Amino acid sequence: MTMDRIFLSPPHMTGNELDYINKAFETNWIAPLGPNVNEFEANIAKYVGVESAAAVSSGTAGLHLALELLEVKQGDIVFCSSLTFAASANPIKYQGATPVFIDSEEETWNMCPVALRRAFDKYEGLGKRPKAVMIVDLYGQSANMDELTEICNHYGVPIIEDSAESLGASYKNRKSGSFGKISVFSFNGNKIITTSGGGMMVSDDPALMEKAKFLATQARDKAVHYEHSHVGYNYRLSNILAGVGIAQLNALDDRVKIRREIFERYVEGFTDIEGIYPMPEPAGYYSTRWLSVFTIDVDQAGKTPHEIISELEGHNIEARPVWKPMHLQPIFKEYDYVTAGDKDVSESLFLKGICLPSGSSMSIEDQEKVIQIIKNFVKS
Ligand SMILES: *Cc1c(COP(=O)(O)O)cnc(C)c1O
Repeated sequence: MTMDRIFLSPPHMTGNELDYINKAFETNWIAPLGPNVNEFEANIAKYVGVESAAAVSSGTAGLHLALELLEVKQGDIVFCSSLTFAASANPIKYQGATPVFIDSEEETWNMCPVALRRAFDKYEGLGKRPKAVMIVDLYGQSANMDELTEICNHYGVPIIEDSAESLGASYKNRKSGSFGKISVFSFNGNKIITTSGGGMMVSDDPALMEKAKFLATQARDKAVHYEHSHVGYNYRLSNILAGVGIAQLNALDDRVKIRREIFERYVEGFTDIEGIYPMPEPAGYYSTRWLSVFTIDVDQAGKTPHEIISELEGHNIEARPVWKPMHLQPIFKEYDYVTAGDKDVSESLFLKGICLPSGSSMSIEDQEKVIQIIKNFVKS
């Protein structure tokens, strides 16, 4: 990586990762599975406060297996947050199922309970009920889990919580990822902790996680010869990468603290300019601020998010718009989309939003440079 570029969210190693990697080499435990995998799973389950976990090769693989475990099949419907990264929705297509996208609420930017209720009403009217609801916890912040869970429970539909971006966050003192029937984390290079690539499924149902491990290791039935009664996948996390994860997880609370401090520094830095508003964090929510995200009021700021992003790019600084909602994506545009009312909240967040450099290894000087460039540009 070029040294002088300021990235959005680069990997941040502690140095202790090498101890676990070396141990794997010394014991020749290079294969997938091994002691690091077991320890990493146990540590994540304990951290999140759930019964069991299954380490997988990516968050996407975990979401795919979650749908498979909940028996989502060809022709089934899955309700899914629209404002998210495509990896939440793609696995619905892998299963041959039909996504129905649900709008966000202004308060959390996550799935809107009013829109979810409307979607259930609409589909009940058509005699259809989704097989699962995929709820995303965006940018390090939990969704409104009390209300969303109540609605899903009413219809007896299980929740898959896509917590890929929100490991370390909490909602009413319960950790993100403890609300889904199955929840999934990602350890991709840009996430708050990383194994370079990897993911974790968690659940309070140990039998489900056992089945996840079975499916993730080619679904080999118990027999000396290779016997298969189910289609399998090669989705397990390697023992070496799990070692990286153990060391990274030990640093997680520190990383959350730093990311929140970075966010606060932006908020303070922007106090004397107009038209830049922080992503809200309602009472009862504890966001990791995985990314520091703001919305721009173009009339007040005099600049669009895209103009600010290009200005930063000119200084070799990486910034990004907010995720483009799934219902606006060419691959998903044929699918239904349900909002709470006339407003399209996720689209407006996409049009107004900007994600600023948020890496926990970013220096204060670098952050001050980012703030100064934005201030000068907005005032110019
Ligand atoms: C990163 C991410 C994923 C996918 O995780 P990978 O480990 O990259 O496969 C899924 N959902 C969301 C919301 C993400 O941000």
